[in-house]
Amino acid sequence: MVCMAGLDGFRDLILGGSCVGCAAPGRLLCGTCLASLPDEASPHWPSPVPEGLRVPYAVAPYDGLVRDLVIGHKERNLVGLRDVLGSLLALAVLAALDASDVRGAVLLVPVPSRAASVRSRGRDATLDVTERARRSVQARGSGRYEVTLAPLLRSRPGVRDQAGLDLDERRDNLSGSMACSSGRLRRLARRVGSAHVVVCDDVLTTGSTVREAQRALAAAGVPTLAHATVAATVRRRSEAGPGGPPGGEAADSPGVHGESSASSLSPAPRHH
Ligand SMILES: [Zn+2]
Repeated sequence: MVCMAGLDGFRDLILGGSCVGCAAPGRLLCGTCLASLPDEASPHWPSPVPEGLRVPYAVAPYDGLVRDLVIGHKERNLVGLRDVLGSLLALAVLAALDASDVRGAVLLVPVPSRAASVRSRGRDATLDVTERARRSVQARGSGRYEVTLAPLLRSRPGVRDQAGLDLDERRDNLSGSMACSSGRLRRLARRVGSAHVVVCDDVLTTGSTVREAQRALAAAGVPTLAHATVAATVRRRSEAGPGGPPGGEAADSPGVHGESSASSLSPAPRHH
């Protein structure tokens, strides 16, 4: 059962609607579907694992109700779903922080949405969900964390929608596609000092997107502790290829990339 601070907040929005999960009239997410959501997150490794990828945590395979929620929020612009998605993303963040026994300042860095997507939706959907996750982690962290939303990354122009691209195309499309805002980083460094960084996104597919976010942060001197996503795509056996994870299963084994030691950072700009 997911703790849903803010459920009341969207109830008004959805009167007269129907559940995205089961189409029951009433709430955007009915009580039965809400109660069926996962309540913990674990590492979900893509296959193949992008080199050097920090541990990616996800709550569920990208399937069923969780997929309906993500699509409803992102493609149908059902803003009322951002609270429940934020609560799910918070589970992934908390799992990452717990695994590294982290305390203190935490920065949640959303992957940047493409400018065209923000324009067409009138908002940044990933930023919205990450802010909801921030509140949830802060509330559930029992005073262990001081959590800040840190939209440090921006997308360079020319990045295509990833949908429909294969593994190599995704990697090429994203390579060098993000940059860390040095102005925002300086302001944040003055305010926060040192912090642990968790990169946040809604769905992990090949891992290329969060890997690019990790690269852009590292280029600005900011190490990433872990990645947190709501859901992770399950690759079918035929897509996974020889040596891939068994069909229907996300790989849980971190292999050589799974070191979980906490990396405290000072997100101050490097000297020129
Ligand atoms: Zn339902």
